[in-house]
Amino acid sequence: METDKIVTAETFWGTAERGHQFKDFSSYYRRQARRQLTLPDDVYPGLKIEAQINHGRWIVDCPFCKGAEYLWEGMKLFLCVSCLNNDTRLPIRVEVPKNKSAIEKILLERENPETRNWMPGETLADLKRENKENIIAPGEKKTTEKEGGE
Ligand SMILES: [Zn+2]
Repeated sequence: METDKIVTAETFWGTAERGHQFKDFSSYYRRQARRQLTLPDDVYPGLKIEAQINHGRWIVDCPFCKGAEYLWEGMKLFLCVSCLNNDTRLPIRVEVPKNKSAIEKILLERENPETRNWMPGETLADLKRENKENIIAPGEKKTTEKEGGE
């Protein structure tokens, strides 16, 4: 896995890391949704999912099952390979934060990709503070003294 960037579907599937190679969401969709040969014009109604960063990868959690997929940054659409979006095969729109590059820049200061995590709602200040507090061994959580009371 590349460690000098936060991985997206394009960077992951763009190399044949798992024996399959997909250049974009459409080709991924064509293979994974099998019988549906073209991307439908419709998207899943009334639903939008926020992307997150998990262990140095942009991912999208499936709202229907425990599945997750890499974020297709180009299309910002989600298709769960495990449940085919509750068997509807309708892609779900994905929201990517406007400050995506700023988030990535701060996380890339962390050497271990497993510590590169971001959840919607976390601010840049949160991440910077974590960088300062957690110059630690991989997988370990340093306990920090609480300052004052809030
Ligand atoms: Zn699913």
